Amino acid sequence: MSTAESVKVVLLGDSGVGKSSLCLRFVTNQFRPYSEATIGASFMSKTVVVRGLSDDDDAVARGERHVGFKIWDTAGQEKYRSLAPMYYRGSQAAILVYDITKPGSFAALRDWADELRRNGPSDLVLAVCGNKSDLREDRLVDRRAGEEYASSLGALYVETSAKDGDDVERLFVDVARRVPSRSH
Ligand code: GDP
Ligand code: MG
Repeated sequence: MSTAESVKVVLLGDSGVGKSSLCLRFVTNQFRPYSEATIGASFMSKTVVVRGLSDDDDAVARGERHVGFKIWDTAGQEKYRSLAPMYYRGSQAAILVYDITKPGSFAALRDWADELRRNGPSDLVLAVCGNKSDLREDRLVDRRAGEEYASSLGALYVETSAKDGDDVERLFVDVARRVPSRSH
């Protein structure tokens, strides 16, 4: 049996970490090395077939789901920060993105997590995403640090490369698997 449902996701994190690139890779399977900074926020959608539950969840698979992702890609700059609640308040999931070569972008996630805890929906599904995994030589944030931080938030953790496409689909699909079907 298949069902159609939607999952509303917001991407948050510093400017330049690759939020727009992750959306572009997921939705169109493209990468633009010289993408322009997002103004305010932008919206993208894509429907994918999601099977079963994530591999860190041992519950019985729910079968095939056609999930329509509704993705808000926000701008990281401080001047747009006051707009963020408009996007995360209506979301079922938030992806906190940092750049594995920029420790400051990793530290900045704490502010987002605090803000979501205070003002976000109580049942918001959280993911922490360490992006730019292709830049192995320039890595300054250990995978372990990302994983530990994610687990302290009860969030799932995925390292991605919007450039190579590595694990980008897995990020979005695993997020969707954590959103309870009922609330779609
Ligand atoms: P945003 O401000 O968070 O939306 O970041 P962008 O998506 O605009 O990306 C900022 C810069 O990082 C751009 O030059 C992208 O091409 C680059 N970028 C994004 N993702 C990756 C990635 O996975 N690997 C590499 N090497 N560069 C990336
Ligand atoms: Mg952007």
